Amino acid sequence: MAENIGIKVTNIGRRIFLKEGLAGIAALAVAPSLTSCESSSKKEIVNSAPVAGSYDVVVCGGGPAGFIAAIAAARQGMKTAIIEKYGFLGGMATAGFVTPLSVFAFKGDLVIGGIPWEFIKRLESMGGAFIEWPKANVDFDIELYKLLCQRMVREAGVDMYMHSSLVGCELEGKKVTKVFIQNKNSFEALECKTVIDCTGDGDLAHMAGVPMQENPDGEWQPSSFCFVLSGVDTETELLNKCMFHNGINGHSQCKVVREKLLQLKEEGLDLPDFGGPWFNNVLHKGSCAVNITRRATDSTNNRDFTEAECQLREDIFTFVDVLRKHFPEFKDCYVSATAPQAGIRESRRILGVHTVTGDEYVSGYHYEDSISRGIHPIDMHASKGSGQIRVDLEQPAYVPYRALIASDFPNLLVAGRCISTDRQALASLRVQGSCMGTGQAAGAAAALSVASGKPVQDIDTSTLIETLKNWGAVL
Ligand SMILES: Cc1cc2nc3c(=O)[nH]c(=O)nc-3n(C[C@H](O)[C@H](O)[C@H](O)COP(=O)(O)OP(=O)(O)OC[C@H]3O[C@@H](n4cnc5c(N)ncnc54)[C@H](O)[C@@H]3O)c2cc1C
Repeated sequence: MAENIGIKVTNIGRRIFLKEGLAGIAALAVAPSLTSCESSSKKEIVNSAPVAGSYDVVVCGGGPAGFIAAIAAARQGMKTAIIEKYGFLGGMATAGFVTPLSVFAFKGDLVIGGIPWEFIKRLESMGGAFIEWPKANVDFDIELYKLLCQRMVREAGVDMYMHSSLVGCELEGKKVTKVFIQNKNSFEALECKTVIDCTGDGDLAHMAGVPMQENPDGEWQPSSFCFVLSGVDTETELLNKCMFHNGINGHSQCKVVREKLLQLKEEGLDLPDFGGPWFNNVLHKGSCAVNITRRATDSTNNRDFTEAECQLREDIFTFVDVLRKHFPEFKDCYVSATAPQAGIRESRRILGVHTVTGDEYVSGYHYEDSISRGIHPIDMHASKGSGQIRVDLEQPAYVPYRALIASDFPNLLVAGRCISTDRQALASLRVQGSCMGTGQAAGAAAALSVASGKPVQDIDTSTLIETLKNWGAVL
């Protein structure tokens, strides 16, 4: 549940903050914009937060769901803002070094079209993407990805609030009227007609009090800290085989390395749990992005995540030592970059009007309000050990609009990893192509809600679907 920090509920609404936001508010006491540290109460700081802008649509989080949602809303003529805690867009692609972007096609036919595919084709034309048909997994250059995201968002006329953390919101009933951000300017407010939560962790929905999926055993898929390894002989047969994800060369997981690591473990080498490993193409000879580390953590608990991230950083160097010692292609390798943060596979998800279940998903169930698709296997990484369960889909699955909204919250949508799914459906829908697909739908739906003056629960979904199809979405 959202935490009320004791700021009085007034007749203009409730103001709600993330637990971590409290530290931010305290820190504001020393911000130069305030006249006296001692006399500034939390309430005064909140009340005096300057309104930095008033928007039709505010998108929180600039990952694959968020930046596509912002473009979609802005292209519908909405005054749109995007809030992102880093100084660049892309989410796990650029802040987690998660590659490839999965999956855009099934047997060579596009499944995720429209703005997401426009982004991929444009990245390809810049030399920043390599599309692996027939699944259309997309390898990419991390820096060109950042550049193109920012270009497309700016071309659409979206106002960017970068280096800005979402720390709270104001509600009138269940309507979000303002979101609060913190950055070097100060503590600021953005007024909003609609909001789209694309934070991955569902931060805004959580703050606003949207009910979340239950997780009684506290079991999450593990986090992995990805990194770029350079000085690698990427021309060898071993790496040529496992650096591609087209399903033609067999599993992208590097079996030879995996078996060696398991053998070393069995022989008594003290190795941490690992996944894969996957050595991923970053479009530069001699380098690859590596996904090997694995630790269970709750990314919504700051202390837990910090501890896991520190351990994972240690693990990176442990594994790189082993690679150097045992595989000629890695003998001169070095860590040229660790991702800005450890990657998060699973955390909070809303309890939406409809929750997509694994059974519906695997059966390819078509809903009347289907607004996006998914075709990645159900891909569940074990939180302990090196195991992983993968179930390939026989046909592309669908996502209903109702999974992007909660009952009673008239102007709040979510997209990406925090939509309403059970753990099985999430294990496929969490991939970046699918997150872009739900982002596109959420952006278009927010625009429709503002234009029609209707709550997000009452918009005309056939008009939404028509809009998405006109953009090239494959529904
Ligand atoms: C190790 C690993 C391997 C994976 N492998 C693949 C793969 O092979 N292929 C694939 O397609 N997908 C893969 N995924 C899944 C995929 O990367 C994510 O599920 C996907 O990026 C989620 O997209 P999103 O937009 O919902 O959230 P994110 O990508 O997490 O983006 C959220 C954005 O919101 C910002 N943000 C969060 N909170 C706040 C806040 N309070 N204030 C301001 N900004 C905030 C973040 O900085 C980020 O930019 C993998 C994930 C992991 C962790």
